[in-house]
Amino acid sequence: MDNKETNELEKTEEEYEYEREQIDKMFPNALFDIALELEELDEIVTEQSYIVVKNTYSCYCYDDCKKNTDFFHITCKPCEKMTNKFIIQQLINQKLNLQECNHRFLEGFIKSKNSDCQLEIVVGS
Ligand SMILES: [Zn+2]
Repeated sequence: MDNKETNELEKTEEEYEYEREQIDKMFPNALFDIALELEELDEIVTEQSYIVVKNTYSCYCYDDCKKNTDFFHITCKPCEKMTNKFIIQQLINQKLNLQECNHRFLEGFIKSKNSDCQLEIVVGS
């Protein structure tokens, strides 16, 4: 963890706990842990109105039992924005499940190199 911004270091343990509670309340049905900061949830990930979120299950947890890549198709209406929060909610609705592996902390999304509308899930343990 060397990519932390300095302002995050100023958060106290209490503030951190409070944030985790708020996030848990926001997404009660998530089958994964959301390791984003509260203020990151409203960040717009992309201006696209249609994206595909890809999860490759490529970590070692699946070495013995390979799992096929999942594609989650997400569309937002003109009045909505592709924020972290919006995408996470759609992934919950589409039953993204990271509980079978040690890497169940969703840290964000990165754009795939070969496509503007394809994102990959960043997970940590
Ligand atoms: Zn794993």
